[in-house]
Amino acid sequence: MPELFIGGKWTAAAGGQVREIRCPADGTLVATVDEAGPKDAAAAVEAARDAFDRGPWPGTPSADRGRLLLRVAELLERDKAAFAQAESLDTGKRLVESEYDMDDIANCFRYFGNLTAAGGTDRIVHTGDAGVDSRVVHEPVGVCALITPWNYPLLQTSWKVAPALGAGNTFVLKPSELTPHTAIMLMRLLTEAGLPDGVANLVLGAGATSGAPLTEDPRVDMVSFTGGLVTGRRIMAAAAPTVKKVALELGGKNPNIVFADADFDSAVDYALTAVFLHSGQVCSAGARLLIQDDAHDTFVDELVRRAKRIPMGGPFDEHARTGPLISSAHRDKVEAYVAAGLAEGAVLRCGGKRPTDPELRNGFFYPPTVLDDCAPGMSVVRDESFGPVLTVERFRDEDEAVALANDTVYGLTGAVWSQDVGRGQRVASRLRAGTVWINDFHPYVPQAEWGGMKQSGFGRELGPAGLAEYQEAKHVWRNLSPTPQGWFE
Ligand code: NAD
Repeated sequence: MPELFIGGKWTAAAGGQVREIRCPADGTLVATVDEAGPKDAAAAVEAARDAFDRGPWPGTPSADRGRLLLRVAELLERDKAAFAQAESLDTGKRLVESEYDMDDIANCFRYFGNLTAAGGTDRIVHTGDAGVDSRVVHEPVGVCALITPWNYPLLQTSWKVAPALGAGNTFVLKPSELTPHTAIMLMRLLTEAGLPDGVANLVLGAGATSGAPLTEDPRVDMVSFTGGLVTGRRIMAAAAPTVKKVALELGGKNPNIVFADADFDSAVDYALTAVFLHSGQVCSAGARLLIQDDAHDTFVDELVRRAKRIPMGGPFDEHARTGPLISSAHRDKVEAYVAAGLAEGAVLRCGGKRPTDPELRNGFFYPPTVLDDCAPGMSVVRDESFGPVLTVERFRDEDEAVALANDTVYGLTGAVWSQDVGRGQRVASRLRAGTVWINDFHPYVPQAEWGGMKQSGFGRELGPAGLAEYQEAKHVWRNLSPTPQGWFE
């Protein structure tokens, strides 16, 4: 069966091109899927435009739209095992992690389903004039291009698809070319849940040939993008000539600040998951450890001792605690990044070399790596590696910790560890990041907004603002008893 989904029909790529999807853990062929080009992207936009302009989805009562999202949540739970399996084969991530992701995805649909069903975003404006009825109503933005990355393929997609549908938009989804399968499966579930034809469309393929045309097309009203900074800049520029609404969720170089008075065992434990979860391929990863001078030696010794023991393996290896990188090219990039750090004076404390174990030979594995004695300005401290690489910097006091933490073009997440409640709050309020954790790392909930400051992007996903992102506010003013004004008499 062909894999592009356009106007309610499964369609092969117009150019007849296909792409092989291989599991990053062992190189096995997962499937061959259709590879869209500009013609397919244009056809998908046409279908989404038509579905928006002719309805009925944008005008469907919000209670009904909400109900459909709740139904999708149920279907995702029904098919959780198949979805998790597909996600793990595409990404190489451990099955248990994909299962957690699927729970979060169902919760995301449930959250936006309830928020949409509750309605209530429209409001009456009190003008002080009894002869006027003035309201602000919220309408869908229109046709949305939703472009997503490979690290959390369906999770990132759900953060866009659920609110976009809840608000009454139609969309063209372009997932990462490396991880298409759960997006294909989601289209089937949306159809099963009763979504009208043309509301949800799917193109698969490379960014330049199937993503870029969406960002340039004048029939597209909004681009919501999650991915790298360089691509984000391109997308913003491509959207400018037609003045599309743009939302960007970009990278991070997130500080994890540990004061000497932190709970030692918890701080070490979380510092490991902060950066090594999913082999560091997490936009919110705590990739910069900032450690107070006095605590440095014991803390880093213990961290390194434990990092060396993290077992790597494929998605179905029950002993593994972390998996491969997404591709050979990505591993090359991470390797080059570590080499640059060492050349600049960083000290390698563990990792830094491809594993030689025979069972990992065919995958793109790279071990948890700790680079000590790092300093501001080094490329490893500045640039996102998106791999399992932790840089360690020292600080003396609160002011220096905050200055180092904010010394980055990014502003996605950050964490502070201290048993001094006041200090935790003070530092949290001074960090320029969209999410800050105190004595924790990584948790998020669909009720709370997610997004970046500075070059981590703009716009918010999740939370009420995550729905508002896909809405236009319209002011409707009704004169209840018009009489001539006589202005030009
Ligand atoms: P990427 O920027 O290479 O690709 C992301 C998506 O954009 C893919 O679907 C790709 O095909 C598409 N694309 C590429 N060029 C395009 C173009 N010119 N026009 C339109 N689409 C184009 O990113 P990636 O390597 O897939 O993902 C990793 C990056 O994503 C990291 O930088 C990470 O920090 C970021 N990320 C951010 C968040 C967040 O919430 N802020 C979440 C996950 C990942």
